[in-house]
Amino acid sequence: MINMCQFRFYSTMQSQKLHQSLQSYFGFDTFKDRQEEIIQSILSGKDTLVIMPTGGGKSLCYQLPALLLNGTALIISPLIALMKNQVDSIRGYAKEDEVAHFLNSSLSKTQVRQVKQDVKSGGTKLLYVAPETLTKEENIAFFKSVEISFVAVDEAHCISEWGHDFRPEYRKIRAMIDAIGDNIPIMALTATATPKVKSDIIKNLSMDDVRSFTSSFNRQNLYYEVRPKISKDQTFREMVQIIKERTGQSGIIYVQARKSTEEVAKILEVNGINAAPYHAGLDAKTRTKVQDDFLMEEIDVIVATIAFGMGIDKPDVRFVIHYDIPKSIENYYQETGRAGRDGLEGSCIAFYAHKDILKLEKFLKDKPLSERELSAQLMEEVIAYSETSQCRRKFLLHYFGESFKTEDCQKKCDNCKRPKEMQEAGGELKIALGVVEELNENYGIKFLVEYLVGRKTQEMKNFRFDQKKSFGTGKDRGNLYWHSLLRQAILNNYLRKDIEKYGLLKLTNKGRAFLDNPASFKMSMNHDYSVAPGEVITSSGSNGAALDEVLMGMLKKLRLEEAKKRGIKPWIIFLDPSLQDMATYYPTSTEDMLNISGVSKGKAERYGGPFIDLIKNYVIENEIEKPSDLVIRQVADKSRSKVSIIQGIDRKLPLEDIAISSKMSLPDLLDEMNIIVSSGTKLDINYYLEDNIDEDVVEEIYDYFQEADSESIEAAFDELKEEDITKEEIQLVRIKFMSDMAN
Ligand code: ADP
Ligand code: MG
Ligand code: ZN
Repeated sequence: MINMCQFRFYSTMQSQKLHQSLQSYFGFDTFKDRQEEIIQSILSGKDTLVIMPTGGGKSLCYQLPALLLNGTALIISPLIALMKNQVDSIRGYAKEDEVAHFLNSSLSKTQVRQVKQDVKSGGTKLLYVAPETLTKEENIAFFKSVEISFVAVDEAHCISEWGHDFRPEYRKIRAMIDAIGDNIPIMALTATATPKVKSDIIKNLSMDDVRSFTSSFNRQNLYYEVRPKISKDQTFREMVQIIKERTGQSGIIYVQARKSTEEVAKILEVNGINAAPYHAGLDAKTRTKVQDDFLMEEIDVIVATIAFGMGIDKPDVRFVIHYDIPKSIENYYQETGRAGRDGLEGSCIAFYAHKDILKLEKFLKDKPLSERELSAQLMEEVIAYSETSQCRRKFLLHYFGESFKTEDCQKKCDNCKRPKEMQEAGGELKIALGVVEELNENYGIKFLVEYLVGRKTQEMKNFRFDQKKSFGTGKDRGNLYWHSLLRQAILNNYLRKDIEKYGLLKLTNKGRAFLDNPASFKMSMNHDYSVAPGEVITSSGSNGAALDEVLMGMLKKLRLEEAKKRGIKPWIIFLDPSLQDMATYYPTSTEDMLNISGVSKGKAERYGGPFIDLIKNYVIENEIEKPSDLVIRQVADKSRSKVSIIQGIDRKLPLEDIAISSKMSLPDLLDEMNIIVSSGTKLDINYYLEDNIDEDVVEEIYDYFQEADSESIEAAFDELKEEDITKEEIQLVRIKFMSDMAN
């Protein structure tokens, strides 16, 4: 008997006929992008590589030819969870269920038998398989006995360690296909592929005579921005503001750790935003519910680790915020790519702190060296993206091997919207390129910068580079300057990074031409995020919520006057951090006041009035535009324990017991109680003091605070230590004192 599959027959199809099948199978009138060419390529039996962004319509590139060709197409896909969806979706277009099946470890024996029968009878045109399925001996034998039209490898970047989702099983695909038969055409598809990943795919699948189709990765409807992550509080404020400007719209916030998903979601919730956490540690039921609620718009914002998004296809996600910077540009591109899939506006805002990179590096500590090095290189690109003052879009597209003119960004990134000043750097570029050449194109950015500024590291001395004439020629300019320049030289193709060789910088033809014929070169300095936390940066990206020093002075003066009037110490009215908050967010009503840290309802009502009046006048006189909705409610992270502390004290429980039931140490409990009374809530701890501290001691400390110029425990201790009074006693009495004063 002649085996059918020895007579596979491939040829292109008339365009008109292909359009008809598109219409009859899928109901679409036209092909998107280069779908038609791609389909023709596989129909004619050529190995075909498809690189198309998420949402571009990759599935149709294999679905349609699979329906048209004799036999069954094998679709290799990494995620078992998504196979069912894909099968359901293709069945939706067909009359019979048998047209598409999946074969993976989740099926029962009976189900497997049914699948194989449908494949044998020729009714099944698409069979989704996991790479593991392919490795099974019995499956290989089965596939050998039936007609396979072609193999489609979806998410093909999983082949490469240089992608963002390496899966070792993908490396075995070629061998499996060879075991199944000869000359089976392969289609590989992915939504992200740097030049390196692309070449890995081609090599690994040995795609002979491959035809590649790369769509543009430009997502013109997305706006990109990177903001410095100055402090947690500040970042939370900015996020709340971003979301409130888009009330009712859908968005995703990506964070690194599971624990942060809960924390951030909670903050958003207390600020009136419909948010829910999502991470791989949640049980399947909860995860499904969160996804469904998001799709049904019961939830507006998902705070997720990267576990979220695979297969989620909500077309109208309007913003993607990266609370933590991602591990690679591929991840970043994928995650931001979930915004604006309907072609309408989408904002992609990332918060960047160099500290976060260090955190990522720490995670890698125990990984093998090769993996660490690889991750380090991927992260270096993320750092470069974050710090660049060049067009973000240009950077991203350059990363994926696409060229792009900055003008075409149309101000849809922060750097194009607020460009940094450009300076002439033709002479400096010549110096830098000259050094690259002199050192035989053998070094990466970091080393070259060190060489240019003349850092005498051990390595420099070992190589005797510190003896060279050009060593340190750039020392008048700092690290930041040369780093910016080298990066921009790469972005503008004077240099290229050799990713096969640890990111060594090589001269391009354009770079050599420049050395022969130097010309003008304009560059701008990178953003400098190395400012210490706490320092106020009014960066291009931040919303300008900065402390108003003038107002701060006025508030302090008012506090003093009020204190005198009432015969109490100023700090009893409001602590400095509260005033700072007021001088930043301009609260002009009692309600606004409640959002200021350390201000409770009691305190706002008792002392707030004159402060509100002052701020109101100040805002009008100086025509200040109040940062809208900027005042965010303080995190309720500890609110649960706060409530239980207050309840415990109401019930006159020993503090030790309250500490135990709140799972904190006694000192922590005292700190917590101090925060409670400082914000104006009364805590009557007389019952505890009576049992635990001598009456005279209580009185002495109490008197001290009535006279003291500051609330400082240390100062009180210095003053009172000779009387054998302990810090703990001072702390306790101060709580009583603050509590008495507050209400
Ligand atoms: P990808 O796998 O590239 O992320 P999909 O294959 O899931 O994208 O396709 C994204 C969306 O585009 C799907 O909703 C699909 O139905 C739609 N689509 C694909 N091709 C066409 C077409 N030719 N015309 C209209 N819509 C299409
Ligand atoms: Mg897809
Ligand atoms: Zn731009």
